[in-house]
Amino acid sequence: MKGRYRIEDCLFCKIINGEIPSDKVYEDEEILAFNDINPAAPVHVLVIPKKHIINVNDLKNEDEALIGRIFAKIPQIAEIKGIKEAGYRVITNCGKDSGQEVMHLHFHIIGGKVLGDKIVG
Ligand code: AMP
Ligand code: ZN
Repeated sequence: MKGRYRIEDCLFCKIINGEIPSDKVYEDEEILAFNDINPAAPVHVLVIPKKHIINVNDLKNEDEALIGRIFAKIPQIAEIKGIKEAGYRVITNCGKDSGQEVMHLHFHIIGGKVLGDKIVG
């Protein structure tokens, strides 16, 4: 438990353990990818580690290989969604100013259309 946030209340941990359904795109023993429930673009997938990590500020040296695996998997997930060649954006929010809503590390894969040239809205 960190602050007022309790892992047992974590939305994405509940998705990982099946308590809450998700529209899965890819899954293995360490990683889950599913369609975002409120897509910002025609393709909007969230890629998460099954390990509960809050955000990039919470990463430990021991997580290096896991993050490497996630990034190696992202183009494969983009290919599954048919946007690998056209291109896409990968975003992770971290903390209050970013507007991070779910306190479980996740990478947004966004594409399926020409994205605006602004990263900061
Ligand atoms: P962030 O603002 O970076 O924390 O992003 C959280 C994302 O989780 C948002 O894009 C939400 O639409 C998405 N989200 C919230 N609940 C669910 C859910 N049950 N299934 C899929 N995506 C969700
Ligand atoms: Zn979690």
